Amino acid sequence: MTTPRPERPKQSEQPNQPEQANQSKPEAHYDIAIIGGGPAGLSAAIAATRMMQRSVVVESAAPPRNAASHGAHGLIGLDTSTPAEVRSAAWTDLDRYGLAVRREADVTDVSVDPGGGFLVEIAQPGAADRIAGEAGDRPGTRRGTLWARDVILATGVVDEHPDIPGFAECWAQSVIHCPFCVGWENRDRTWGIVAHDPDHAIMTARAFRAWSGDILGIVPPDMPRIDEVRAAYKAAGNELIEARVTGLRHRDGSLHTVELDDGRTVDRQTLVWHLEQKPVPLVSRLAETLGLAVDKGGFVTVDGERRTNIPGLYAAGDLIVPMGQSVLSSVAAGGEAAASIGRAQMFAE
Ligand SMILES: Cc1cc2nc3c(=O)[nH]c(=O)nc-3n(C[C@H](O)[C@H](O)[C@H](O)COP(=O)(O)OP(=O)(O)OC[C@H]3O[C@@H](n4cnc5c(N)ncnc54)[C@H](O)[C@@H]3O)c2cc1C
Repeated sequence: MTTPRPERPKQSEQPNQPEQANQSKPEAHYDIAIIGGGPAGLSAAIAATRMMQRSVVVESAAPPRNAASHGAHGLIGLDTSTPAEVRSAAWTDLDRYGLAVRREADVTDVSVDPGGGFLVEIAQPGAADRIAGEAGDRPGTRRGTLWARDVILATGVVDEHPDIPGFAECWAQSVIHCPFCVGWENRDRTWGIVAHDPDHAIMTARAFRAWSGDILGIVPPDMPRIDEVRAAYKAAGNELIEARVTGLRHRDGSLHTVELDDGRTVDRQTLVWHLEQKPVPLVSRLAETLGLAVDKGGFVTVDGERRTNIPGLYAAGDLIVPMGQSVLSSVAAGGEAAASIGRAQMFAE
């Protein structure tokens, strides 16, 4: 049984009209607001379009998390396309229909409209036509409100990069987080696995032998359950170093030497670095303001229909997936979220 959702008000749209700063009157109305214009959000947009749903995709102007990636590896037909090329190809598809609108802005808040649907607050840094003047805004930030009957969160997650010399230069090239994504490009090199969590260290002690025959682990000396970690590495026949990485020496992002806090150096060509992830600020905010359900890692909890615990609010993509994140799974999840909304509309009384 689906819950009927309110209809989009039959008001004319004026998305480009200047409005008063911090106004709460919506400047435009949509069936679906999609927050995040990555693979999950854009897949949701095309699925929504094909179900005759008018959507707005609100995408931050900031570079996406995978901006340094050289390919959407594993995505059939687009395997060697950069993230920007994937997004551009998606908009070429979407623009043929003309039902999805793109807005380059940050969504700062989502609230439940007492009359039904959601109010989506946006901030557009750098827009020249309106000065909000709020503390914290950059000059020229334009603020506005959109109304949507349903909302899909597709914001991805935030990677926490360590502040270590050489890390930024090597990131996504020879320092990688996911062998499924960039293992092929790093095959048959010497690998190190940098882990800060014992479960991850144990799980990966023997896991990556398809890509490299020369693997060693690097874990902090005070790692909990270090005996289990040592045993896992011994069973795998791989060396384990107990030290912290303090620097990476490289040539144009191609790693050759790892510096350790005990003064040692170790020759490695590739590091698999297990990064901590945290929710984007909007998700943390909605967990507080709307009571959006998240797990202990901050990942949004959804049911099989990609519904969150807030009726009308859906989530798709990396922000619901603690492990096994990919373009492919995000594309699938985005499409499924929009299809769930479409089904709810089809069978609503
Ligand atoms: C370096 C790197 C390389 C990778 N390589 C591969 C690969 O080869 N193959 C593969 O399958 N996967 C790869 N991945 C993983 C893949 O990029 C992700 O799984 C995928 O992009 C997730 O899609 P998404 O739409 O959920 O999130 P994202 O792609 O992260 O998109 C979310 C978007 O939401 C925007 N956003 C966030 N908050 C807001 C807000 N408040 N308002 C407006 N917009 C907001 C962000 O700016 C972002 O553009 C890689 C990841 C990284 C980091």
